[in-house]
Amino acid sequence: ELAPVVTIDGPSGAGKGTISQLLAQRLGWQLLDSGAIYRVLALAAIHHNVELDNEEAITLLAAHLDVQFMTVAGVEGVKVVLEGEDVSSAIRTQDCSNAASKIAAFPRVREALLRRQRAFKSAPGLVADGRDMGTVVFPDAPVKLFLTASAEERAQRRYNQLQDKGFDVNIDRLLAEIKERDDRDMNRAVAPLVPAEDAKVIDTTGIGIEAVLDIVLKHLVEKL
Ligand code: C5P
Repeated sequence: ELAPVVTIDGPSGAGKGTISQLLAQRLGWQLLDSGAIYRVLALAAIHHNVELDNEEAITLLAAHLDVQFMTVAGVEGVKVVLEGEDVSSAIRTQDCSNAASKIAAFPRVREALLRRQRAFKSAPGLVADGRDMGTVVFPDAPVKLFLTASAEERAQRRYNQLQDKGFDVNIDRLLAEIKERDDRDMNRAVAPLVPAEDAKVIDTTGIGIEAVLDIVLKHLVEKL
């Protein structure tokens, strides 16, 4: 396989983003932050005054979305440029998270974004971070991981992350929103958040990033 894929799925705050980034760096592989695609689509809808419950209009927007993703050395997270504008931080707000999870429930929207996501697969390999990477987008991936952690711990991690970025956040509201978003992501009819049958599930509650990365690297060596 010229471009093997490692899929990393799980709920928000489970450590997927950080682990995916570290892993892609370590391996020198491409990185797909699929959540950023749903987020930027939600932001585009808001910018163009498209109602978030209008599946048809959002599907159309998805097909024509003018967006670039760049990984910048030394910078955390992907740089996201929407219609020429750097929206890397704009897509990380709570409002954008919630809007993204609403539009992500539309089957035709997901369908419209499939090709764009699969296009990230290229040599020497791809680390794909999301909810349905192992189940829908890259079902043939040789390595599939599913990271989880308790909702409380995930809320705490998100809280720390957002505070570091200078966002003013309330932990109780964050926990409530995480639970609401998990609920929506797990219970939608299409591509629900669920581990692939052949995924290795890692519960990261109480485990630091470095230790999780060790577990992941060991698993990779066994599988690849
Ligand atoms: O991973 P992140 O929190 O950035 O994703 C934002 C939202 O996008 C998720 O809550 C989920 O509803 C949606 N999403 C998805 N499928 C993916 C990645 C993200 O439905 N592969």
